[in-house]
This record gives sequence, C-alpha cells and structure tokens, in this order.
Amino acid sequence: MVGEKLHGLIQLLSKFPGLGPRSARRIALYLLAHRANVLKPFMEHLREVDLRYQHCSVCHYLDEENPCGLCSAKNRDPTVLCVVACMGDVWALERAAFFKGSYHILGGLISLSNGTNPENLNMETLRMRLASGILEVVVALDSTLDGQSTLNYLAQEIFPLYPHVKVSSLARGLPTGGELESLDQATLMSAFWGRREVVTTSTISQKWRDFEQSEHSLS
Ligand SMILES: [Zn+2]
Repeated sequence: MVGEKLHGLIQLLSKFPGLGPRSARRIALYLLAHRANVLKPFMEHLREVDLRYQHCSVCHYLDEENPCGLCSAKNRDPTVLCVVACMGDVWALERAAFFKGSYHILGGLISLSNGTNPENLNMETLRMRLASGILEVVVALDSTLDGQSTLNYLAQEIFPLYPHVKVSSLARGLPTGGELESLDQATLMSAFWGRREVVTTSTISQKWRDFEQSEHSLS
C-alpha cells in the first residue's frame, strides 16, 4: 500500500529522537501535502546545513567556522572549561548566559546500555586541552546513570593525569534522571554555582601532602 520510497522515508523519520512510527507517518504525509512551502525549503536547509557545518577541531561544536565562534570569542576565558555531553547542553548553558569560559563536547556519554565506550567519545582532544593551558574544569553532565559513569571515568582515568587542574561537577541538587538540556535556567544556574570539587586520586594525594605539611609546620 505504501510505496517503497515513502516507506523508506517513514523508516528514517521514525529513528529521530522522540519520534515513533506513528509520528513519522504523520510527518511524511505532511511533507508531501506541503511540497512548495515545507518540503522544498526543508530539503534546501538540509543540504546547506550538511555543506556548511563542521565540527570545531578544538571543542567539537558544530559551526560554519573552524575554530568555532565560541572558541574564537575574545570575551571568553580559555582557561576554564565546561565539559558537556552534546551541543544541546551548550545551548542550554548559553541560554542561561552566565558561563563565560570555554566548552568541550564529549559527543555522548559512556553507556553500558547502548555500548558507548570512552574510545567513542572526544577524550583525546580533552587530554590535549588539559595539557595546554586549562586551569579549571566544570563537568556538566546529565544526572543519569550514564552521566555518573562518564564522570567516574573522567575522575579516575583522565583528571588525575593533570593534577594542576581544579575540577568540579554540577551540584547534586539536579533532579535525578534529569537531562541538562531540559533544565530551566534557574535550576541550571544554581546547580552550576553550587558545584562540588571532584575528588580524584591526585586530589587525595595533594590533600595528604597538604596535611603532612601542616602537621610538619605545627611540630
Ligand atoms: Zn570550538
């Protein structure tokens, strides 16, 4: 009943986040019913976006320029880095308009359920940035199991290699299961300002050295 190409289009649309087969069918029919004012401009936009946008080689943001507008902005602090999972998280933070540092987009979260490993994420460029000029990192990930797994990995495998970098993560006040993108600005801002230091093995050894030093100076 449904032609092969139309069926293919519906199949493709049903893979979009938040869409199931029913919404995919409705969108496909809507596109065909509004060819001149929706389908054709839509195709044109897709082609332009595909041609023009590329990942920033520094932070992995998608932009028409490389480095992207965020990385080349003169009014942003290049020594403070906010680590996020995806571009939508950057948009959420930029909407709230209080963070004036730089970003690093991991490109996802470590996940047992969908098989995403650290090797699938932008960890190598993160290491390069931590080794060259970054003084502070704020980890801003979803308050989900995958967000926590990713934070644990960063705290155990990445940050201890750069003990000079101060690391914190968003406050625990985030709603459990909450995705950063869906938070309202006030919640996001208070989670950001209430951020906690991330304890890494290097933080522990530094604290131990400080303690020993203070004990020594007392004696
Ligand atoms: Zn960038």
